[in-house]
Amino acid sequence: MRIILLGPPGSGKGTQGDLIAKKHGFPKISTGDLLREAVRKKTPLGEKAESAMLRGDLVSDELVIQLVQERIGRRDCRKGYVLDGFPRNREQARLLDSIEKQPVEVVLDIRVSEEKLVERLSFRRICARCGSIYNLSMKATAKQGICDSCGDDLLQRQDDSPDVVRERLNVYRKKTEPLVEYYRKKGNYHRIEGDGTVESVFQRISAVLERKGTKLNHREAVR
Ligand code: AMP
Repeated sequence: MRIILLGPPGSGKGTQGDLIAKKHGFPKISTGDLLREAVRKKTPLGEKAESAMLRGDLVSDELVIQLVQERIGRRDCRKGYVLDGFPRNREQARLLDSIEKQPVEVVLDIRVSEEKLVERLSFRRICARCGSIYNLSMKATAKQGICDSCGDDLLQRQDDSPDVVRERLNVYRKKTEPLVEYYRKKGNYHRIEGDGTVESVFQRISAVLERKGTKLNHREAVR
């Protein structure tokens, strides 16, 4: 099953994407993670992407689609994947449709109030080594500033500063939110209430994926 995670920054796409990937065995592909890695490694792509990322703006479609096309073309994506943070505008959605022969089966739009998003992003910390995501307003780590999973330092993303968060939310409203209509028309759109614990949101997502999986299996069986 191919899954797109829509939803504003801070809605929990990364965390929920990891849980879906673990349960179903699909790779999670986060364009933000791929871009941050390119910036860290100072690759030519990373150098081109960095300034837009620091401003909270979108990186050019051309660069991002190149990354995604290469990644979803790999063997481990044959049975499905979870896209976190892509597509981010209509052009990217159209490009994805042109790469894939069949439309993506499920679009999950995780929704959280704007007030909560700003709060969550200001308390978000990421492990520098293993990428684990923490929200310190919900749960403290065992040792302050240290990752519970691997023991490395926790960092705040540079683009989680208040000014950049404001810009990222503006960009989301202007460029990404129109995708709700785009996918609603295609009939694969599902809105998920993103307030509540990680587990409760994951239960809502799992219920949608189970229904969808049953339908897809049924369709296969009658073919
Ligand atoms: P994220 O980790 O998804 O919040 O992404 C962090 C930053 O990476 C965004 O603010 C953008 O600058 C860039 N980015 C991630 N995904 C995309 C995308 N699909 N298109 C353009 N820029 C992106």
